[in-house]
Amino acid sequence: MPENFSPSLQQKIEDRLRYYEDLGIRLFYKDRGANGAALAAVETGVPAPSPSIVSQEPILPKPTPRPAPAKVAPAAPPPPILVTPAGPSLFEAVDRITDDTLLKVREDLGDCTRCKLHKGRNKLVFGDGNPKAQLVFVGEGPGADEDMQGLPFVGRAGKLLTQMIEAMGLQRRDVYICNVVKCRPPENRQPDDDEVTTCSPFLFRQLDVIAPKVIVCLGAVAAKTLLQTNRGISQFRGQWLEFRGRKLLATYHPAYLLRNPNAKGEVWKDLQKVMAVLGLEVKKGKSA
Ligand code: URA
Repeated sequence: MPENFSPSLQQKIEDRLRYYEDLGIRLFYKDRGANGAALAAVETGVPAPSPSIVSQEPILPKPTPRPAPAKVAPAAPPPPILVTPAGPSLFEAVDRITDDTLLKVREDLGDCTRCKLHKGRNKLVFGDGNPKAQLVFVGEGPGADEDMQGLPFVGRAGKLLTQMIEAMGLQRRDVYICNVVKCRPPENRQPDDDEVTTCSPFLFRQLDVIAPKVIVCLGAVAAKTLLQTNRGISQFRGQWLEFRGRKLLATYHPAYLLRNPNAKGEVWKDLQKVMAVLGLEVKKGKSA
């Protein structure tokens, strides 16, 4: 009820209100809108409009204006998003196996018959070396010698790899050596795509378990498998790349070096980069 009317007018208004309320009509005339007519009629003595012409729709009171919000200090800027160095993507993380071990990977491989390579296999070549190695070499697939012994890189190319490892100031037992496919492709052909697709999850698990600081891909098959690329190895050989958050460097395969000894210098430069990352002393001019 407005408070600035004379007592007599106030009384008239109240009487009129009661009259309307008796008619079941609720009036809200805090402001002089449609219902202001009723009030004006009371004030001026002009007969009030009949209740029928007053909106019978309940007119809702205007919401009480809210007090202006108290001034608050401007919000502090959000904390910077910490970019973890090259963590796994969600896609990569889903196929990681919790509490995996090399033994479990080997057990899961079992007496594998998942792809056609098993038909010509003598021995499955799982991998060899230090299960906690900081450095892992990944080759393509076993050759004849490896297939006979069940060990990776034990033939001619393997002997050259051993020399390269020793030139780095390491022993074979310090590193881990494995391949993309675990069974020998016939006639030493490159593994087919379906063979790589079938076998590579076991390699990924090996790498996840060992968690080395550096992965060296020996040749294009290993590089293309881990990097999921079709680019030729010469386009990225010797560059630091990444596999599941780990440093990866691709270099030529030792078998290629046997055929192209002139490329040894480039490979030695690549290995020197690896040595620098591993904190191994780089001796000038020493190469395999
Ligand atoms: N070549 C490879 O890629 N792997 C071996 O184990 C032997 C030769």
